[in-house]
Amino acid sequence: MDIQPKASHFIQGTYVEDNNGTPIDVIYPATGEVMGRVYSATPEIIEQAIVSAKSAQVAWAKLSGGERGRILRRAADIIRERNYDLSVLETYDTGKPLSETLCADATSAADALEYFGGLAGSITGEHIPLGDGNWAYTRREALGLCVGIGAWNYPTQIACWKAAPALACGNAMIFKPSETTPLCALKIAEILLEAGLPAGLYNVVQGSGDVGAALVCDPRIDKVSLTGSVPTGRKVYAAAAAGMKQVTMELGGKSPLIIFDDADLENCVSGAILANFYSTGQICSNGTRVFVQKGIKDAFLNRLCERLDSAIIGDPQDEATNFGPMVSERQLALVLGFIKKGKAEGARLVTGGNRIAGGGFYLQPTIFAEVTDDMSIARDEIFGPVMSVLDFEDEADVIARANATEFGLAAGVFTTDFSRAHRVTDRLQAGTCFINSYNDAPVEVPFGGMKMSGIGRENSKEAILHYSHVKSVFVRMGKMESPF
Ligand code: NAD
Repeated sequence: MDIQPKASHFIQGTYVEDNNGTPIDVIYPATGEVMGRVYSATPEIIEQAIVSAKSAQVAWAKLSGGERGRILRRAADIIRERNYDLSVLETYDTGKPLSETLCADATSAADALEYFGGLAGSITGEHIPLGDGNWAYTRREALGLCVGIGAWNYPTQIACWKAAPALACGNAMIFKPSETTPLCALKIAEILLEAGLPAGLYNVVQGSGDVGAALVCDPRIDKVSLTGSVPTGRKVYAAAAAGMKQVTMELGGKSPLIIFDDADLENCVSGAILANFYSTGQICSNGTRVFVQKGIKDAFLNRLCERLDSAIIGDPQDEATNFGPMVSERQLALVLGFIKKGKAEGARLVTGGNRIAGGGFYLQPTIFAEVTDDMSIARDEIFGPVMSVLDFEDEADVIARANATEFGLAAGVFTTDFSRAHRVTDRLQAGTCFINSYNDAPVEVPFGGMKMSGIGRENSKEAILHYSHVKSVFVRMGKMESPF
């Protein structure tokens, strides 16, 4: 497959190039080979993207929600028809195995476009009766021009989780993918245009943090939605605050997964595997602090290691592979650094821990046991296939330890005692909690973090609130009363 895009940026319905920008190599994580090249957006490209989006948004916001929604739903259909090709591209961009990308990436992008396309006609205000026959009504209005900034782990999904609600509400969007995965968002831009989206409403510009920062600081931008790390979130939130801009911040996590000793063994092992090794552990909501109650610990670790032995690590384009490389040499080095710290700080390495020889960025799935709360591998987001198993005995104690983190993205509980499951989730400080499950993210359900993990919610009807203003209109039916 030739993955080199026609040009780096997609503006006003067409590919645009400016090779005065800094070159960005597109590296295939499975081999380390350079597969293509794009160029970072220059100030001229950023200007073109803003002018084009700003002007397209005016007419778009005047359409009915139903008209806007029809285009989004058509885009969802095209994405589903091309799922295979889009999944192959996602695998080249990220290294995630095709067995995953075929069911988790373009499909979830299509889900978002379909859902928000369906919802677009129902974005309405309310009628508020007041005294003396007076009344008011509210309208939900578009914010204007939104900037989406993506992380590299789910480039297609992130592009659409932001674009779908933004466009449904009548906004335009400029999307800047991560510099590590520049390809997939360009395909989404092509498909939206093909589905009938007027040119300029979804522009894609490439670049690193400097391009993101230039967009966030521009006074013509009304809203910023970032998916990224907490340190980047702090910078972007501060820059947006200076211009009093709306934000959605989808940031990192270090989520707890609590396994009580009455849990179904096979089920909680499956949960822990999904919560740590899917997408080679590169998922923000992963349950990387696995608290295991004393009575089930040995059985849990034994079964986990047996199941890990059957992981098929290899060529991500082979559908039999279910564990692929990490996204980049840099990310691999960061994770190896954490593994070194885990060993140095006294955790027991149960399995894995090494880079797998060859040209790609492969790392063995890694498990540490006897991890304590103060260790770096229990405190910091690793963003790789490293599970930390921590021991616990008492329910109140594990809740306190689970919450003793600056993050608050997700949390999971495995138990067959349903009263306990609800009692515990009631006290967990996390935007999404899972009971006997992990990492489900259907578009109908709000997704986002508490504490340092973020602001606002993506998906569901909640996202509409973050991509629209409410305007109140007071209507007096009688005469005004005035003091003089
Ligand atoms: P990152 O923070 O390094 O970069 C994210 C994006 O921000 C990139 O596009 C980058 O170019 C851009 N950026 C960097 N500095 C910027 C600045 N000053 N102004 C504007 N934009 C800037 O994150 P990453 O390494 O790409 O992704 C991994 C992180 O993303 C992890 O922390 C992970 O938890 C988080 N993440 C969160 C979610 C979620 O929904 N909560 C989902 C996926 C990933």
